[in-house]
Amino acid sequence: MELKITCIPGDGIGPEIVAEAKKVLEKTACVYGHKMIFTDILMGGASIDVHGVPLTDEAIAVAKSADAVLMGSIGGDTTKSPWYKLPPEKRPEAGLLGIRKALNLFANLRPAILYDELAAACPLKEEISRAGFDMLIMRELTGGLYFGERRTTVENGLRKAVDTLTYDENEIRRIAVKGFDIARKRRKKVTSVDKANVLDSSRLWRQVVEEVAKDYPDVTLEHMLVDNCAMQLVKDPAQFDVILTENMFGDILSDEASMVTGSIGMLASASLNDTKFGLYEPSHGSAPDIAGKDIANPIATVLSAAMMLRYSFDLDREADAVEAAVKQVLKDGYRTGDIMSAGCRKVGCSEMGSLLAERIS
Ligand code: NAD
Repeated sequence: MELKITCIPGDGIGPEIVAEAKKVLEKTACVYGHKMIFTDILMGGASIDVHGVPLTDEAIAVAKSADAVLMGSIGGDTTKSPWYKLPPEKRPEAGLLGIRKALNLFANLRPAILYDELAAACPLKEEISRAGFDMLIMRELTGGLYFGERRTTVENGLRKAVDTLTYDENEIRRIAVKGFDIARKRRKKVTSVDKANVLDSSRLWRQVVEEVAKDYPDVTLEHMLVDNCAMQLVKDPAQFDVILTENMFGDILSDEASMVTGSIGMLASASLNDTKFGLYEPSHGSAPDIAGKDIANPIATVLSAAMMLRYSFDLDREADAVEAAVKQVLKDGYRTGDIMSAGCRKVGCSEMGSLLAERIS
């Protein structure tokens, strides 16, 4: 297959971790007989420095012409960088919001996996973490409370604020379809999370998810209230496969799920539109405190690249090979500083990328 990939190295550790993900992808392409064509674009602070804005129309056009986008991270030290003296719409983060909007990325996927070798980093009790977990949070990204009408008023001397949570059935259906499609590539279970005992938007969510489920008889659907889900994530995370939920619930639950893995440098993410197109990036930020030192952990970006192979290109075998290389490298005792533990060998970002590439087979 010939695959056109737009890369956004971005700021801070972004260029270092994207270089290692490219190294792993190039090896994968070589082993499995694909051709990958990479084109870099500027975004965030790197674009501000050159063009005065965090994202240009030309960069968006290049991203749109690709089959998928692989990103490092954008942004700088928010207390020191001159980028944060600019008005909000000119700051690095505006580039990220801009590209999500331009590419219509409405579905956010964040896997939370506990690797056996990193179990000691998990903050849960050993009797819970022993079972391991491998879940994926599928969050609606462009609707709900964060995008509804809002206002703050003063009525009879009393300050009052209103936010509105709106979903229509099409917005719910398209994310539900993505959730069920992805569950089919995994352990075939969807937990739809809502607050249907209180909210109308959640009752509609539940109805539409049930309608979509009829087309997926091979996938098990269960409903869970969001407060119960928050508890279950720390009580019995092994029960989850795909958690399907709306924007705000997903925002909170995905951070909770990340925390229980205990390893920020390992967490991938993807944002998809209604075609196979997606933007893939690590869940962490640009870590300006360690930029340029060759000590960042590139694994979250490498695992994001594996998601790209699986979800944008349907190359499941190749994605499996990348994920297996990550497991093998951990098993072989190699660690970057952030996941270092006694008895392991500490390596830098570039060496970690090479070790991963060597293990692609
Ligand atoms: P951060 O995730 O960049 O860093 C938090 C801590 O984790 C730091 O100590 C950092 O050194 C460490 N860390 C992060 N990734 C690591 C890796 N791969 N390997 C080793 N250690 C790693 O969060 P922050 O410090 O709050 O934010 C820094 C910048 O990143 C800000 O400008 C913020 O806006 C931006 N940011 C961007 C994105 C994005 O591009 N999607 C997401 C989050 C934050």
